[in-house]
Amino acid sequence: MADNVGNADARPDLELEEEFGPEDEGTLTEQDIAAAEAPCGGVGIGIPLAGAGGGSLSSRPAEAESQASPLRPDEAPGDAHPGGHPAGMPGGPSERQRHGGARSVGFRPGGGEAARAYEARTGIKAPRIIAWEITRSCNLSCAHCRAAAEFGHYPGELSLDQIKATLDDIVTITNPIIILTGGEPLMRPDIWEIVDYCHEKGAMPVIGTNATLITDDIAAKMAEHRIPRISVSIDFPTAEGHDTFRGEPGCFDATIEGVKIAKRHGVGVQINTTVTTLNAHLIEEIHDLSESLGVDAFHIFMLVPTGRGEDLLDKELPPEEYERVLEWAYERQKTSPLHFKPTDAPHYYRIIRQKAKAEGKKVTREEYGLDAMTRGCLGGITFGFISHVGDVQPCGYFDMQLGNVKDKPFSDIWTESNVFNDLRDYSLLKGKCGACEYKAVCGGCRARALSVTGDYLAEEPYCVYIPASMRGECEE
Ligand code: SF4
Ligand code: SF4
Repeated sequence: MADNVGNADARPDLELEEEFGPEDEGTLTEQDIAAAEAPCGGVGIGIPLAGAGGGSLSSRPAEAESQASPLRPDEAPGDAHPGGHPAGMPGGPSERQRHGGARSVGFRPGGGEAARAYEARTGIKAPRIIAWEITRSCNLSCAHCRAAAEFGHYPGELSLDQIKATLDDIVTITNPIIILTGGEPLMRPDIWEIVDYCHEKGAMPVIGTNATLITDDIAAKMAEHRIPRISVSIDFPTAEGHDTFRGEPGCFDATIEGVKIAKRHGVGVQINTTVTTLNAHLIEEIHDLSESLGVDAFHIFMLVPTGRGEDLLDKELPPEEYERVLEWAYERQKTSPLHFKPTDAPHYYRIIRQKAKAEGKKVTREEYGLDAMTRGCLGGITFGFISHVGDVQPCGYFDMQLGNVKDKPFSDIWTESNVFNDLRDYSLLKGKCGACEYKAVCGGCRARALSVTGDYLAEEPYCVYIPASMRGECEE
């Protein structure tokens, strides 16, 4: 998609421009959405898809049950899932899962007149996805929560009027997907008014939730208020692990029940899993649990140690294992019936290209679907974040406030912030990322660079790749 093509000095960019015709302009991509952040595991969320139904409950071939664990060194990722497509999708698995069942629901975030006019006027892409922490209150206290949210009222939270005024401003430059997150957004009593106002202004609201508060009543409201998809974090395949991680006995069962209720009411569900050393060996099981629940998508999130997640610094996967998980993801999604995506792992888009090259393939939309059309990190490029008190950030993990909507319109912050503008200029990247032939499709996680080095333009600390130019080779 052209929105992610920002810097013509990098060769992969030029490839992208060749590959994506004008018809792709403005089309919703899964990665655009999945790049969104939220607490409770980073609740990136995809739009639900017409007839998504990715979570087929079809029986799976026996081979599928003996999937390679991403972290078992005796199993090559390429050996994973030899039994072919488990759900027997016609047309080959690649097309099916890489598109997640459909490309679009007809909503084109950032594809409207306001966004086109904004870009023509400023030369800057309008945001297509905005994650909005509408409250920091939460009924859980998860170990890895970006917001370090707790139950209770947080002073200074944006009022309904302030939220409406900010939406009024946002739609002067774009028609985005708005990811309503928290905390737990369902704890906000006026959430349905916020949802309705998003629709009224031409934005598309979705919800990131821990699902423990979802009752038949709430799920019916989600359907009634046209919430197309929710994202729900599940980090362990069993109650024991999940409840310990989440700090709440009974949480796992409540979450599973919430997912089932939402599905019963026709609301799409995406499962998000934050990968750490605690659960990396369980990803296959979590995937299978998600599949058995009949959800639409399964997104793995690589831990970004900010907020309460700082306590999990020692649980972050070392770069080599990180790489191995991403390689596993590349192979696994070939046969998964779920839309399947690593998130906050920008170098996955380098791995796609490396793997494709090794397989003699070109990374085209036809072959790789949405993965071919997007960039690893979209923070500040087509994605932004608004905190519970109105602070604007490139993403929820990027621990730097670039302005506050109470003092300055979001549209002005998006346009004028030096940090946003730095993030849009890939030539400013430093170290390995600056030298990397994949910087246009990857770019490294800027939040992780900021958190580890204090410099958001520094090289991604969790990438094992040595760019070709640093190896003394020609760029690939
Ligand atoms: S060096 Fe940086 S830009 Fe290159 S693949 Fe690694 S994280 Fe991405
Ligand atoms: S900075 Fe990192 S966490 Fe934020 S959007 Fe980019 S990849 Fe995701």
